[in-house]
Amino acid sequence: MSARSKETTMNRQRRDFLKAAAAGSTALALSGCGTMSGGSAGKVVVVGGGYGGATAAKYVRMWSNGTVDVTIIEPNAEFISCPMSNLVLGGSKDLSYLTTSYANLTSRHGVKIVRDSATGVDADKRIVRLAGGGELPYDRLILSPGVDFMWDKVAGLNNAEAQAKILHSWKAGPQTVALRRQLEALPDGGVYVLSIPVAPYRCPPGPYERACQVAWYFKRAKPKSKVLILDGNGDVTSKGPLFKKAWADEYKGIVEYRPNYVLTDVDVATNMARFEVHEPVRAGVLNVVPPQRAGAIARAAGVVTANDRWCDVDFLTFESVKVKNIHVLGDAIQIAAGMPKSGHMANQHAKVCAAAVVALLAGQTPNPTPVLTNTSYSMITDKDSVHVCSVHQYDKEKKTVLPVPGSGGVSPAMSAVEGAYAFAWAKNIWADTLA
Ligand SMILES: Cc1cc2nc3c(=O)[nH]c(=O)nc-3n(C[C@H](O)[C@H](O)[C@H](O)COP(=O)(O)OP(=O)(O)OC[C@H]3O[C@@H](n4cnc5c(N)ncnc54)[C@H](O)[C@@H]3O)c2cc1C
Repeated sequence: MSARSKETTMNRQRRDFLKAAAAGSTALALSGCGTMSGGSAGKVVVVGGGYGGATAAKYVRMWSNGTVDVTIIEPNAEFISCPMSNLVLGGSKDLSYLTTSYANLTSRHGVKIVRDSATGVDADKRIVRLAGGGELPYDRLILSPGVDFMWDKVAGLNNAEAQAKILHSWKAGPQTVALRRQLEALPDGGVYVLSIPVAPYRCPPGPYERACQVAWYFKRAKPKSKVLILDGNGDVTSKGPLFKKAWADEYKGIVEYRPNYVLTDVDVATNMARFEVHEPVRAGVLNVVPPQRAGAIARAAGVVTANDRWCDVDFLTFESVKVKNIHVLGDAIQIAAGMPKSGHMANQHAKVCAAAVVALLAGQTPNPTPVLTNTSYSMITDKDSVHVCSVHQYDKEKKTVLPVPGSGGVSPAMSAVEGAYAFAWAKNIWADTLA
């Protein structure tokens, strides 16, 4: 069959499916959906209502014309965005700016939300178990649990008391506010130390943006204070020249950057950080971004495949390469070359996955050449930003997603125009995910 006639056939099948679905037909030819019930075109359960999960839930509902039953399991009452959360540390925004209700997902899109945590998966019976004791059956399960921290890699931080004092603030919420309070309490002349793990970790440019935001605060409120970045990596992992220029020009004398500082231990009583090869460093405020891996439910579901940390997926569908009918999105996956662990990318994973899940539930073939994009803004001040962007396309021969040569790039310099784009990006992606 030629590519053109195949596409025409797929379009016709999709049209027929949507027509039948709109007419409320229960006689759709749906293959491989053993537990379908109640007249729906299949049951999708989504674990995690963050960037990946909430987007996938909304788009499965929209693209199935409301025929696929979708339930999100999420313990948090509201969506709180990590993107833009560094502005709360700088003091130009507060937590309410980052927070969006889940109400529209239910009222406008018919997504059911169960406020609970998933604790286990029985992949043979296609059932998710909940902390509250219940169970949810699925035809397709979508996991987007984000990251968990590998506390065992930082001796001294392997207990709750230590973790309550030395904050990560790498999941937006109460820790974001608590770190801001620590910065406010730091006397003028104090040192804020930011420890960055060896890549891969959630949001490559995020720590360097954080350094800028804390420096922006210090420059105005306590100009004798310092930001000391102790990076486990050999160099800045994203937008390096742009960040280094900002530290040299905008935050001269405030920000100091040191590469190859792999954190091994923290002495909580003295705020002392210890490293593989360097002398220990004492901080006024110590902020440790720990090494990360896929959220624990991925392990419980048996879909962790790479380095005991991340989940390999088929990039056409985001289905696990290991366990059938379980899809994994967002930070939890083993990324393809050049693919960042970002909210924007999680949103793109979600759309490819949602389209594939709707197609598969209808017995159709998913799109064979998905394209994904990413744009990542970093706020240098309260108004000025820089960005990096890229386009990624599925390569049929290599069976992975690869950056499209010549696409994307970085800003020439920070600007207020890019700052306005950054705020618009946030507004748009929050609406795309949740409105
Ligand atoms: C400081 C900072 C700045 C950032 N800035 C940007 C940026 O500017 N642009 C950008 O694109 N990205 C940015 N990111 C990265 C972005 O936040 C992540 O890449 C994105 O959140 C990944 O989406 P996700 O769906 O994988 O995880 P999340 O958005 O974290 O969602 C995971 C959800 O799963 C839930 N969950 C976990 N386990 C369970 C369970 N067992 N049962 C039920 N629910 C569960 C959690 O409660 C959470 O709500 C930033 C990150 C940080 C920390």
